[in-house]
Amino acid sequence: MAPALNLTASQRIPAIARPFVSDRAAKTLDLVEKFVEEECLPADTVFFQQLGQTAGERFSAHPPVLEDLKAKAKKLGLWNLFLPRNHFKEGAGFSNLEYGLMAEYLGKSQTASEACNCAAPDTGNMEVLAKYGTEAQKRKWLDPLLEGKIRSAFLMTEPEVASSDATNIQLNIRRDGNEWVLNGSKWWSSGAGDPRCKVYLVMGKSDPNNSNKYKQQSVILVPADTPGITINRMLSVFGYDDAPHGHGHITFKNVRVPLDHIVLQPGSGFDIIQGRLGPGRIHHAMRAVGVAEKALDYFLARINDERKKPFGALLSSHGVMIQRVAESRVEIDAARLVVLNAAMAIDNGDAKSALKEIAIAKILVPDATLHTLDRAIQAYGGAGVCQDTPLAKMYANSRTLHIVDGPKEVHQQQLGKNENKRFKIVQQKLEAQRVKADQLLRKYGLERVDPLYLGRVSAGTSKL
Ligand SMILES: Cc1cc2nc3c(=O)[nH]c(=O)nc-3n(C[C@H](O)[C@H](O)[C@H](O)COP(=O)(O)OP(=O)(O)OC[C@H]3O[C@@H](n4cnc5c(N)ncnc54)[C@H](O)[C@@H]3O)c2cc1C
Repeated sequence: MAPALNLTASQRIPAIARPFVSDRAAKTLDLVEKFVEEECLPADTVFFQQLGQTAGERFSAHPPVLEDLKAKAKKLGLWNLFLPRNHFKEGAGFSNLEYGLMAEYLGKSQTASEACNCAAPDTGNMEVLAKYGTEAQKRKWLDPLLEGKIRSAFLMTEPEVASSDATNIQLNIRRDGNEWVLNGSKWWSSGAGDPRCKVYLVMGKSDPNNSNKYKQQSVILVPADTPGITINRMLSVFGYDDAPHGHGHITFKNVRVPLDHIVLQPGSGFDIIQGRLGPGRIHHAMRAVGVAEKALDYFLARINDERKKPFGALLSSHGVMIQRVAESRVEIDAARLVVLNAAMAIDNGDAKSALKEIAIAKILVPDATLHTLDRAIQAYGGAGVCQDTPLAKMYANSRTLHIVDGPKEVHQQQLGKNENKRFKIVQQKLEAQRVKADQLLRKYGLERVDPLYLGRVSAGTSKL
């Protein structure tokens, strides 16, 4: 039987995952797909137009189309989908696996994640506040974030140090009476460009001389309008400004906040970022699968475009293109399984116990997405690298996935080192198998022989 071509999202759930998806989640998944395909993707074009032109306009814009989408999403129950039910009561009550299936669709659109209040970095920040915040911190910051009234940023990376190793972080946090005083600079502060970004979660060193280098850091909640904060400039990603949220380069000069603005307690910064980066990493990977699917959609549209036939034939009639379609399908489906597996591992334990699965997803998924995007861009020729398709911007965003939340090499190091820890068990197993084989040979009256043994002795000096 020929495969059905127009399945709904819930009908496309991989067979291996289907038993773990509730009927309510399957129904919501179909709603998410419809909302993204029919509402958000067309609204993306309006969103970009409504941003304006100059940097001043773009970083103060709040496109009305987004608020309309948020209202629609709330009405449909597509709100705060990301907060997993086994850890948080504030969310929509889905598992990470179920959200993983939904986030794929959100990843296809510029506006969809924010429309459903599932956009980074707010998602990770809300998790931090829900997990570690005091009641007062939750009421002040978590409630408006959950309602989509404000936005937030997470400030860890610094321009002067290699920040993939968070023990290098330098921003100074000093206690002075009833206040914390912050001095230093941060960059790649995603979300800080949006005027609705009202709070920064800032990681710095509150105890730089602690002999335990993982106890030197703290995370402090800093209202964005605190005196002493300067957003010097916004950083571009391959030339794209990512307005209005953008990526800020920010300095802190004697920035003072009350003592109760610390998250958890002094010295717990490292634990907080470890907890924060787990599920957040998977969110990126989940959305990246959707980016790859969208790239494949564009790829198929182009290679079957009747108006564009190089050398008199549709591109899809050239074998190499169909081969690339197949390669993309293989890589995307593999990427999806890897992401869903990581999501299930988090569901069954937590982000710490799922480190291996998260690392695999973080390494493999961006590659699958970038490869598919690259093939689609190639099929479009010049149109693929310019503003006439979304592919170039998608490529720029996706390329950063090997850097954000820790570079690919760091995950490879961790994964490789942990895998290598098995070496003793492997050596013992292989040795035991060799000994057993010798015993069996003896039992059957045989000797270990090498069938390719020649034992040929040189007959003298070569005559050649
Ligand atoms: C689009 C975007 C958004 C971001 N958003 C945020 C944000 O919201 N908040 C925030 O705090 N930061 C954010 N970042 C920063 C990001 O997390 C850092 O760039 C990342 O952690 C790497 O740190 P670094 O830039 O200091 O590079 P470095 O630490 O200097 O590393 C440079 C390179 O060294 C190599 N490397 C590092 N470690 C190893 C290793 N163990 N083995 C081999 N090679 C290695 C890698 O190739 C790496 O890319 C964002 C970055 C981008 C691009």
